[in-house]
Amino acid sequence: MLYLDHNATTPPLPAVVSAVAEVLSRHWANPSSPHEAGQAARAVLTQAREQVARFLGCQPVELVFTSGATEANHLALRGAVGHGGRSGLVISAGEHAGVHKLVSALGREGVPVGVIGLHADGGLQLDEAEELIGEGTSLVSVMAAQNETGVLMPTAELARLAHAKGALLHVDATQLVGKLPFDFSRSGADLVSVSAHKFGGPKGVGALIVRKGLNWPALFQGSQERGRRGGTENLPGIVGMAAAVQHSTWTASNWHERSAQLAQLRDRFEARLRACCPEVVVHGAGRPRLPQTSFLRLGHVHADLALQRLAELGACASSGSACSSGGQAPSAVLTAMGVPRDEALCAVRLSFSIDTPPADLLALAESWPRSLADALDSAGTHPHRIPTGAIA
Ligand code: PMP
Repeated sequence: MLYLDHNATTPPLPAVVSAVAEVLSRHWANPSSPHEAGQAARAVLTQAREQVARFLGCQPVELVFTSGATEANHLALRGAVGHGGRSGLVISAGEHAGVHKLVSALGREGVPVGVIGLHADGGLQLDEAEELIGEGTSLVSVMAAQNETGVLMPTAELARLAHAKGALLHVDATQLVGKLPFDFSRSGADLVSVSAHKFGGPKGVGALIVRKGLNWPALFQGSQERGRRGGTENLPGIVGMAAAVQHSTWTASNWHERSAQLAQLRDRFEARLRACCPEVVVHGAGRPRLPQTSFLRLGHVHADLALQRLAELGACASSGSACSSGGQAPSAVLTAMGVPRDEALCAVRLSFSIDTPPADLLALAESWPRSLADALDSAGTHPHRIPTGAIA
């Protein structure tokens, strides 16, 4: 199988699997128990916190472990309502479905919400951001890298705009961490969400980084995580997350070279695909984007057919965010970019990793359009152009 869905989730590293198994069998005690077994589990938790903090460029006390990025985002956004006497939230139109649903619910509760639009190429409309961020804004929340297009968002500029108005900046760095270097201490952000399963760790664990000195309210009351997240700590998950950062093959000295290598592979893949199928459209291609993400359509071929043919060729990809795929609704981010519905329904996201064999990916750039052309020829349809929904 050629796995091309690394933005949905990544395979756990072998060291992660053994670290999780070891904690389950040896350190199953409650880290809050005062007895010896509990204190041994506490020591493991402390070490894992230090390792994750070092990797993310934050202090151990700034880390609040959560069940993943969805919870971290909720902790950030809900906590911002009323913070410092302000309630306004400003997000971008490209945020994760969970964030959109949360701010809709908060909006119904009376929280003022502003949504920054996207340009047709997937970039953020910074002039609109400047207009929306005001004296009543408590928090600006934006992804570091868009999960479907991979487009990198201007978080440093947003930090300046937010701080100039006395607002905080929350960055959902779920898709960036593990793909490009990230250092909280230099990011300009006040709060940052991350999720372990996007960088070789287990599912169901992540963190919200809360800048030291910010007094942040909990979603779940309890004494754990300095009162910021009640509930017995998910020690196997947290240790698995720490193992993912400890055993990552990305190091400070090879980041640059490796991301350039990935970007080159992505560009070769897209160029070869275009040579076989001139009607290829790559969404977000004009902007700086993640080096391993291609969000594209092959002319007017519906994503269902495109994915079916990919599957027959032994490759797994998705028609956008795993959290919203499977429905008939077009991608929200493409809609925000002004892509018409029938074109948006053709979008397929391929996201690979440094371990993806280049030869396999490049071979797919030829076999995939050929396979689609065969399917469309036998259906008696114009190659690459079928009415949307014609083939489910
Ligand atoms: N934010 C972004 C940008 C994501 O891509 C995802 C996962 N698709 C999430 C949040 C949710 O992460 P989790 O699965 O850890 O809840």
